[in-house]
Amino acid sequence: VDTSMNILITGGAGFIGSAVIRHIITNTTDTVLNIDKLTYAGNLESLASVSDSTHYQFSQTDICDQPAIEAHFTDFQPDIVMHLAAESHVDRSITGSAAFMQTNIIGTHTLLEVARHYYETLSGDKKSNFRFHHISTDEVYGDLDNDDDLFTETTSYAPSSPYSASKASSDHLVRAWDRTYGLPVVITNCSNNYGPYHFPEKLIPLVILNALAGKPLPIYGNGQQIRDWLYVEDHARALYLVATEGKTGETYNIGGHNEHTNIEVVQTICALLEELAPNKPHGITSYAELITYVKDRPGHDLRYAIDASKIQQALGWTPQETFSSGLRQTVLWYLNNSEWVEHVQSGEYQHWVTQQYQ
Ligand code: NAD
Repeated sequence: VDTSMNILITGGAGFIGSAVIRHIITNTTDTVLNIDKLTYAGNLESLASVSDSTHYQFSQTDICDQPAIEAHFTDFQPDIVMHLAAESHVDRSITGSAAFMQTNIIGTHTLLEVARHYYETLSGDKKSNFRFHHISTDEVYGDLDNDDDLFTETTSYAPSSPYSASKASSDHLVRAWDRTYGLPVVITNCSNNYGPYHFPEKLIPLVILNALAGKPLPIYGNGQQIRDWLYVEDHARALYLVATEGKTGETYNIGGHNEHTNIEVVQTICALLEELAPNKPHGITSYAELITYVKDRPGHDLRYAIDASKIQQALGWTPQETFSSGLRQTVLWYLNNSEWVEHVQSGEYQHWVTQQYQ
């Protein structure tokens, strides 16, 4: 029996979405349709290793464009939808929140409406197996002040930033479309991801690339903010597992049990670079001397930490990378993929996309 599925993925040109697609195309016989608007954060070069597969299709489409999304559902007949498209950078949400409301809230609403009408047209196994998987963040829970607390699936929502408030809104919409219209949904809330192909505005790639260029390594406030770090490929495996085997109506928290202060993260990267890139830029004697404290981000959450025991017990998922092994692989990846980095940084990539798709 052929159990291959059609999986419609939104935001597949982003950091996590591209890891999910590489995972699916490499390890399964499923077919993926990647729907991505290709904002500054979308990068098709992250999919170069799988884009020639006959199991992979791409469409440059905005999730807010309802007629275009409807046409994709009708043509592709998805068995599963994995919704990752979002505006995802907290700092950008503070200086320009409108795009976050548009994509994260209106875009999710558009997809839910299209998915609900499509679901009504299904019958038999196709209907009973259909799922809408919404990918979200642990930032919807706000932050923790007690050292022993962890976020669980029942922690109440208390988002702090425009980004996390827009993601919290989208989670609520998804649950309402389950409760009100019976759309079969699953939701995952994950901690901070890191790994290869991460856009260099986020902490870990920013620090690696700035250090290699001899530029300051900015640390917000006192650097004591705690994040729970998960290697992106461990997240991608968890997402596929939840999308295919998770119980509908359920939420699963995903995390790495890897809590580190931001300053620890930056110091660890500096130590790895001392070992892996000993030829330092001119004028510096140690990477750590580039560490520079800057004014804290407004509303900065102090600590996030995930209790991932539900997904471990229910679906048997555990992370394969430790923080130390994952960070080493990440640093090595950036050292070995300077071309990807140069394209992202130079805007050459955006130019290439314009020529290919317009
Ligand atoms: P990303 O910013 O790297 O990628 C987002 C992708 O969505 C990009 O390819 C972008 O082009 C696309 N996109 C944006 N607006 C769109 C629109 N209107 N229509 C179609 N496509 C659009 O983000 P990421 O880090 O890969 O995060 C993916 C998802 O996972 C997001 O929903 C995010 O909230 C969630 N998440 C991220 C993290 C993390 O640490 N990065 C942690 C937990 C959850």
